[in-house]
This record gives sequence, C-alpha cells and structure tokens, in this order.
Amino acid sequence: MSAFRGFLTRLMTHPATILAAIAVLFFGAPFLSNGTVQILGFLMLNILLAQSMNLLTGIAGQISLGHAGFYGMGAYASGILMKTVGLPFLVTVPAAAMIGALTGYLVSFPAGRVREFYLAMMTLAFGLIFREVVREWDGLTGGAVGLSGVPSTTLRNLTLFGFTLDALDYFRLVLIVTAIVMWLVHNFIQSRFGRAFYAIHASEVAAGCLGIPRAGTKRMAYTLGAGMAGLAGGLYAHMIGYLGPESFDLARSIEILVTTVVGGLGSMAGQILSAIVFTFLPEKLQVFAQYQFIVYGLILAFTLILLPRGLAGLLLLPPRFIKPASLKHVTPADVAIQPVRSDFDSTLVVEGVTMRFGGLTAVDDVSLELHPGRITALIGPNGSGKSTLVNVISGIYQPTAGTVRFFGQAITGLADHRIAAAGLLRTFQDPRLVPRFTVRENLLLGAHRRYRASALATTLNLPSAAREEAAFLATVDAVTRMAGIVDVADQPLESLPYGYRRLVEVGRALLAQPRAILLDEPAAGLSEAEMTLLARMIRAMKEAGLMVLLIEHHMDFVAELVDDVVVLDSGRVIYHGDIQGMRQSPAVIEAYLGAPDTDAGPGDSGLETAHA
Ligand code: ADP
Ligand code: MG
Repeated sequence: MSAFRGFLTRLMTHPATILAAIAVLFFGAPFLSNGTVQILGFLMLNILLAQSMNLLTGIAGQISLGHAGFYGMGAYASGILMKTVGLPFLVTVPAAAMIGALTGYLVSFPAGRVREFYLAMMTLAFGLIFREVVREWDGLTGGAVGLSGVPSTTLRNLTLFGFTLDALDYFRLVLIVTAIVMWLVHNFIQSRFGRAFYAIHASEVAAGCLGIPRAGTKRMAYTLGAGMAGLAGGLYAHMIGYLGPESFDLARSIEILVTTVVGGLGSMAGQILSAIVFTFLPEKLQVFAQYQFIVYGLILAFTLILLPRGLAGLLLLPPRFIKPASLKHVTPADVAIQPVRSDFDSTLVVEGVTMRFGGLTAVDDVSLELHPGRITALIGPNGSGKSTLVNVISGIYQPTAGTVRFFGQAITGLADHRIAAAGLLRTFQDPRLVPRFTVRENLLLGAHRRYRASALATTLNLPSAAREEAAFLATVDAVTRMAGIVDVADQPLESLPYGYRRLVEVGRALLAQPRAILLDEPAAGLSEAEMTLLARMIRAMKEAGLMVLLIEHHMDFVAELVDDVVVLDSGRVIYHGDIQGMRQSPAVIEAYLGAPDTDAGPGDSGLETAHA
C-alpha cells in the first residue's frame, strides 16, 4: 500500500504529469460537449475553493464557516463592477480577489486577542450577514431575485482584449488561472511561510517562541484564503451570467469545508481528488437534493471516523514542507552555530522577578544574570519555579513584579515572538515540535526569523529565495551532524523515540542563531549517548559566545558543563555561586540534595508537572 501511495504521490506531483493533465484539458476541451466543459469549469472553481480552504484550515489550522461569503464577495464584486460600473474583466476579477482578501483580513482582525473558536464564529457570522445583505440590498445585488445580465460567456458579451470569449475560451482561461494559483500556493506552502502556518497550527506557544507572530500569521492565512475564494467568485460570476444569494449560503460554506476535510487536511493533491468527487457527485445525487445536509453530514462523519486524514491519507504520502529541488542544491560544510559578537559584556539581567498564580508565589523576587560565553545552571526541586522563571523571561507570562533586560533593553511584557526575534530563545520541558514535520522541517522552522526573501519572491520561487532556502538547509545539515541526528533527518518527528525530540528541539533553537538560550531540562529522558551529544552542543554554544541557562537535575551532567549555579527553592534563590560552593551550602543540602555529591535524578524528586 505504501509503495502504491508513493507511486501515486510522485505521479500526481510530477511536473510532467501536471503539464500533461493541463494540456489534455486545454486541447481536449473542444472535443467535449458544452455541458461537460461547463462542469469542468466548475471543477476548476471547486479546486480553487478547496485549495483556499486547505491553506486556511489544513495548513494554518484556522476554521472558516463562511467561506461561501468570501466567494460571494468576489462574485458580486466582479459582477457589479463589470455590469454596473462597466470595468473590464482584467480589472474586475483581480478586484474580486482583493476584495475577498480585504474581507478576510477584516474578519480575522481580532486574531491577536481571541481564541480560534472566536474567529471561526466570526466567519460564520460574516457568512450569514453577507447572505442577508445580498438579499436585502436589492438596488445593488438584485436581492433575492438575483443579479442577472452579468457579462458572461452564456450571454456572449464577455470580452477580453476586444475578443468575445465563448464557453471554451473561458474554460481555458479558468484552467490556466487555476494552474497558476496552485503553483503559487504550492511554492508558498513549501517555504518558511507554509511552515510557519503549520507551526501555528501545531503549537502557537512554540511558534511564538521561535519568533513567529501568531496574530499576524493567522491574519495572513485568512487574507490569502479569502482572497483565493474571492478570485474563484470573480471567475464564477462570468461563467453563467447570473448570481443568486442561494449560491453563497451556509450550505455552500459547509460543502467547501466538507470537500477540504474529505480531500485530507494539508494535502493539495488530496484537494484535487476531493474536488473531482464533489463536482461530479451532486449530479449523481440529484435524487437526494432535499437531503443535502444529511448526505454531507454522513460523508463528513464517515470520513472523520474511517479516514481521519481524508482521501490523501488513504492514497498519498503526507505532504512535505520543503521543496525537493531545494534539497538538491544544498552546499555542504556550514558551521552549526555562528559565533556571537561579544565585544561588549551586555547580559541578560533578571531583576526582582516575582510571579504569582492566585495565592501561589511560584517565583519570588528572583535576580540573576547571564553572560556571553558562560553556562549558568538553574537547579532546584520540582515545583521550585524554574520553568515559571523561563516562561517569564521568554514572554509567555507577564511577571507580577520585576524586570528582565536583554542587551540593555527592558523586555518584560513584550510578546514572546518579539523576545525571540531579539535573539532570546528557549526550549520546553515537554518538547514542543511539529509532530508531522520531518526532523529537517522542524529544524528549518527555527530559522524562520532569519529569512530575508519577501513573501512575493518566495511565492514566485525566485532564485534569490531558493538560494536563501538552500543556505539555511546547509546550516540544518551542520546542526544535524552536531546533534547526531543525520540518519533521521527526513523522518517524521512523530515516528521517532523521545530522545531525538529533545535534540531536535535544541537544534531548532540554534537555527534561530540565538544570543541567549534557555534550556528547560534538555537532558531529561535522554540516554547516555544522547546526553553526550547534548553536552557537545551546549559546549559549542558556550564557545560561540552564547549566554546559556541550563535547567537540569542530573548533577554529573551539570557539574561537567557549568560556570555558575543558581539554586531555587520555593521560588526563592537560596544559592548563587559555583558548583563546589553549592555542594557545601547548608541551605542547598537541606532543600534539595539531601547529602553532598548525590545525583538527584528527576526520579528522586516526585511528580513533575509541565506548565506553559
Ligand atoms: P519547576 O519547573 O521548578 O519544577 P514550575 O515553575 O513548573 O516548577 O512550577 C512552580 C510552581 O508554580 C508549582 O507549584 C506549579 O504548580 C505552579 N505553577 C506553574 N505554572 C502555573 C500556572 N500556569 N498556573 C498555576 N500554577 C502554576
Ligand atoms: Mg519545570
């Protein structure tokens, strides 16, 4: 089965097959009946809509329950601009895409302050309101009766560059537009943008800590998704020359969503399969027309239970987020960690930080400093506030009191992605990676902030963008060598044992080229061999001049590496100094070690709860 999946995937994604399919449709269309050509035209629109929903829901993890509204915005915009205002096709259809995009942007505007659920409700509300406005605003939209007489191929009054387009010309045009849009979307998904969308989908907190802004990314997803739907609407308007509100109601929105889920969330090829099914199926299901919702409900339930990853999960390999071509151009020999300039001894300064959760003081008036090229261990029993302190420094929590300064600038209260962008990276006590990404894709995510190529250059796959991707892939190679994970670089992370995840997470933070790195129990759960690899990475960080904060229980591991030690107990600093001194400190012995020179492994210290 997996050999078959591989074959079908290569077939469906091979440029030769794609060009051949386009050519067959383009040159074969004259031999088909008018009715068939029109259905194929609708198929193209359904593909565009499914791709749009896939980008938004499958890739970025955001839900749209009003997609027909964005589609309708485009359709009415192009229809009205041409019929009433008299603008040409070359203006009205791009305008339809822009108006759809603007609507998507506005609907998703609250993304910074609200949960996904709320945005989904916003799209639902938008879809419902759109339909009512169309029905009520007779003068502009023709109301419930609909807008007829839109210049179209059916009426033979649609012109482009002075030529009158017939149904066949128009199908060919829609085919080419669909192919180009798919190529652009494909470039976009297999780039840092698609990876960032998917990272937001997998874990907003982890994405934020890599410098990926969650609100901006979600807005971008809604804007692009709605823009594509608007484009499909603009094309639809001139296919039949009539627009009625019922073409853009909730049922249509649900149909688009069902198409995408059945195709397989995340898979572009799956969307094509599913769009084919849902374009031709309704013809066969005419008898059930009045039970439309029941049929869609059953199809959806059936899919979710039996094929959670849709047709794509059944027939195709999982989608990838790096262009295969980029992998071929990687130049070997790159350094894993660029040395950090440390000509001035600015540091990470934590001053009097207190963090309260209700009545509980998790971190109590803690002050400490990190220095370039030095490793500071943060130790203390479970529940002593170590992770909470890291969460405060990295911007996940706003401290109750105190300040954090980084290179002289107060960063307290800044959004996590801004702190990451300033070069302060962290890892999590429970690794937060993208399970469906390969090791390589996960690592590359770390470099997100360092890319300079614009979204446009990336989407057009310009040589500058491709070169940049190849350069970061070379750094990824160097990091996989240092972390000892070369062999698994192209395996999906979810298929790997736990130890690899820790190494990948540390490596991912390094790809951000941090100036300071906070490691929350990076050695927990590692084998001896993996610990050696981790120690090598941490030493390399020190040599490159990074400030390193290392939370660790494993005393032997800590003793070999660290320069300074800070011990926390019940949220307070009870010791600050070197490791020898710590072993003799009565306060530390009492609170944590029990006796000098014992190895207090995580197992000794009771239940570990992972927050953040
Ligand atoms: P450590 O990492 O040192 O084991 P933590 O920082 O995870 O300790 O936790 C310190 C204390 O703060 C614990 O008592 C924990 O239960 C509490 N705590 C941590 N995060 C939260 C939170 N988000 N809400 C409430 N209590 C929390
Ligand atoms: Mg912890």
